[in-house]
Amino acid sequence: MSEKHVYSFGKDHAGNDVTEVAGASVEEAKWIVGGKGANLAEMSKIGLPVPPGFSITCQTCVAYSNNGNVWPEGVTDEIDAAMATLEERMGKKLGDAEDPLLVSVRSGAPFSMPGMMDTVLNLGLNDESVQGLIKQTGNERFAWDSYRRFVQMFSGVVMGVSGQLFEDAIAAKKAEKGVKLDTELDANDLRDLVTWFKGIFAANVDVKEHPEVSKNGYAVFPSDPYLQLRLAEQAVFGSWMNDRAILYRKQNKIPDELGTAVNVQVMVFGNKGETSATGVAFTRNPADGTNERYGDFLINAQGEDVVAGIRNTEPIADLVKVSALKEAGEELFHVFEILEDHYADMMDIEFTIENGKLWMLQTRVGKRTALSALKVAIQMYEEGRITKEQAVSRVAPEQLDQLLHPQFDPNAEYKTIAKGLNASPGAAVGAAVFSSADAEAFAEAGKPCILVRWETTPDDLHGMVAAEGILTSHGGKTSHAAVIARGMGAPCVCGVDTLRIDAANKRFTVADSGLVVNEGDVISIDGTTGDVILGAVELVQPELSGDLQTILAWADEVRLDESRGRVIGVRANADNPTDAQTSVDNGAEAIGLDRTEHMFLGERKHLIQDFILADSEDVKQLAIEQLGRAQKGDFLGMFKVMDGKDVVVRLLDPPLHEFLDSPRELDVEIARDEEQGKDTAAKRALLAKFDAFQEANPMLGLRGCRLGLVYPELNVMQVRAIASAAAELKRVGLDPRPEIMVPLVGFEEELIQVREEVEQTIKQVADEYGVELNIPVGTMIELPRAAIMSEEIAKHADFFSFGTNDLTQTCLGFSRDDVESAFMPLYLERKIVKTNPFATLDKGVAELVRMGVEGGRKGNPNLTIGVCGETGGDPESIHMYYNLGLDYVSCSPYRVPIARLAAAQAKIQANGGPQKIATK
Ligand code: PEP
Ligand code: MG
Repeated sequence: MSEKHVYSFGKDHAGNDVTEVAGASVEEAKWIVGGKGANLAEMSKIGLPVPPGFSITCQTCVAYSNNGNVWPEGVTDEIDAAMATLEERMGKKLGDAEDPLLVSVRSGAPFSMPGMMDTVLNLGLNDESVQGLIKQTGNERFAWDSYRRFVQMFSGVVMGVSGQLFEDAIAAKKAEKGVKLDTELDANDLRDLVTWFKGIFAANVDVKEHPEVSKNGYAVFPSDPYLQLRLAEQAVFGSWMNDRAILYRKQNKIPDELGTAVNVQVMVFGNKGETSATGVAFTRNPADGTNERYGDFLINAQGEDVVAGIRNTEPIADLVKVSALKEAGEELFHVFEILEDHYADMMDIEFTIENGKLWMLQTRVGKRTALSALKVAIQMYEEGRITKEQAVSRVAPEQLDQLLHPQFDPNAEYKTIAKGLNASPGAAVGAAVFSSADAEAFAEAGKPCILVRWETTPDDLHGMVAAEGILTSHGGKTSHAAVIARGMGAPCVCGVDTLRIDAANKRFTVADSGLVVNEGDVISIDGTTGDVILGAVELVQPELSGDLQTILAWADEVRLDESRGRVIGVRANADNPTDAQTSVDNGAEAIGLDRTEHMFLGERKHLIQDFILADSEDVKQLAIEQLGRAQKGDFLGMFKVMDGKDVVVRLLDPPLHEFLDSPRELDVEIARDEEQGKDTAAKRALLAKFDAFQEANPMLGLRGCRLGLVYPELNVMQVRAIASAAAELKRVGLDPRPEIMVPLVGFEEELIQVREEVEQTIKQVADEYGVELNIPVGTMIELPRAAIMSEEIAKHADFFSFGTNDLTQTCLGFSRDDVESAFMPLYLERKIVKTNPFATLDKGVAELVRMGVEGGRKGNPNLTIGVCGETGGDPESIHMYYNLGLDYVSCSPYRVPIARLAAAQAKIQANGGPQKIATK
């Protein structure tokens, strides 16, 4: 292998920066040395204090993994050389008995995966080097504390020994000493713990699995610092494929093939006493976007103590109030500004103060809620840091779902039983459950639940996914529960210190009231306020306003500006006036699909049944007249709401038997009647009729345009209703704009014949009302033949609308009604498909769309082309539709804001990315 596997960062002994860049930008470098490595290098380059170290590349991880967890040839030599150089740069040797160099070994993938992979701190300690550390620091307690932490972490991370065994040992030691806090244990206690921990190691590590640590067949904690280092590097690479990391990637659509880097970095210590501290922070508030410093710190602690929520943290703003830390705190706040200036974004930071000296351990663009993403994007634009195009690109469309998520009904009355931190916005109602396994079980049984935990760990991910919301008694706003919930868009209230959770007995008690909540009791949480309520609070959908409106307006500005590239419209699928109004309120420009069959449900069902089953022409005629009157009323309502805007009305589409009652139920009824000696002749006759309409493959049967060809009265009735509603509104001065869409066309002759009839009816109505009616007629493209023969079909169509639900069904031969519960989960699991093709446009189906667009435009240069299948509201598909040259996408009313943003981003990306302001 000739490529470079290791990149160094930070300064040398003389203070010169020796960072080796892995790419022209952080964005480029992160694919090689991971996000953490790329940003450490970047911070080094701009002069920030970064502990020196080196990154082993993500590609090395992939090669190691593909090689059966064996180092590819030559790589370990390169790593050893980098380590030797690091020792030279520091003027110290790893694990030296006099003045030891200690390192941290951390993972760092191209995308941040908080807490999912492994980290080992204080590496290099052994019975000799701990003496060196004591000598150098004069702090015996600190040295032994560092050593016991190392043994504990190494055993857990590298050898998989249960962390509980070590926690139990600490608890036993505290009990023996009669103290409550870890910090009350002295140097001798901690030295005892090191011995104890090594015993746990010896008793729990299987030497067959880990022959590297075997001595005479027994597991012995490795004292050789270089062996410690190699094993830790391997463990980090191995952790890329641990279950929770795999699940997290699946959740966040991160490819498994990327690998993680390993960052080996000189240790700095936040646990050297009162002049030392460690913390995590954001340059702005990641929950609501307020421009304030946000985060927590702990005095005399190591990094993982903050995230784990073991001790209660202090708010970051108070750092400068601690006199021993004031100077470093001020420097940190200055670093916030430098980072925001440099990255032109809100940043997430990890830092350590060692004896008053500030060290930056990590930075990355901060994860944030949708609320915060909107606010920060607007602030950054107003501060002149970014352009509107960048602001629009900074909000993930899927994230908007969070804002469209339910909230407590403002009129609901409820009593708060406890209050915690408002860690992730949105409200949730569900049964209290106390373990991730129970959360999954409840969700599987269809019972919404709230996961209640002392604090979550990465192993809880599956429970957090299954639950409606998360409630914890410990941990700050940067705790695991808070970070993950925000990322998932799940409501979360954390750090509710009045909750006494008894997970073993599946209940919690509220300390101040004595109230007991058991598993299964319904509770409500509000992640926007931090409130916890006993019972179910009514939830409502929030209204779109403020920052969301601003960003959507900017998105529309870009999307609809011809001078900035091809325009793409956003329409909605709606079939009643209320949904049409919601669509307009959410910014839809038109109705892209009005499924008229939805108007035949409820009490209208018997009319269509009468029509289908009628024995006499009179009954049939009466049914169709009544249907016509009802439909006209529907269209009057729709066209009024959509005055001046297009409404694409689709003629009746589904298999007719969908309107008939279930023959199976009727069969059962007949059997019961017969048992009771009743006359069943009429029911039997009805059953015979039902049976006559049964098809082996209804989805491929009498449906779509075939219906109107077999029952022309249906089309005439529908077109009459559309045209006369439009004519009536025209007469009173409104501007109705119906368009008529023919479903499931495969042959141009189908469209020609249906169109002829449609136009005749429109003309008749226009003459009757004495108004001019220009109603375009188009077709859905939802069969492969239609896509292939689009040029011919387009000659007879004013517009095309891709029906990707049916087009996917017929292209892939997957039943759209059954596949999700049949084999789709397996296909996703086995990666036969990357995503559900009914949700995100499949590449093969996209190829049909491409052919359809190309042929369509050839056949009719004035053709308007859109999509109205489910994929029309999916951001990834919208990018594809923009690139395929569609004129609009149409989706459900609630996805319209998401589609507006995604469409704008698609256009920005297609035009080479957002315009930028030169960063400072
Ligand atoms: C489609 O097939 O994509 C479509 C929009 O029509 P329906 O879902 O009503 O079949
Ligand atoms: Mg369809």
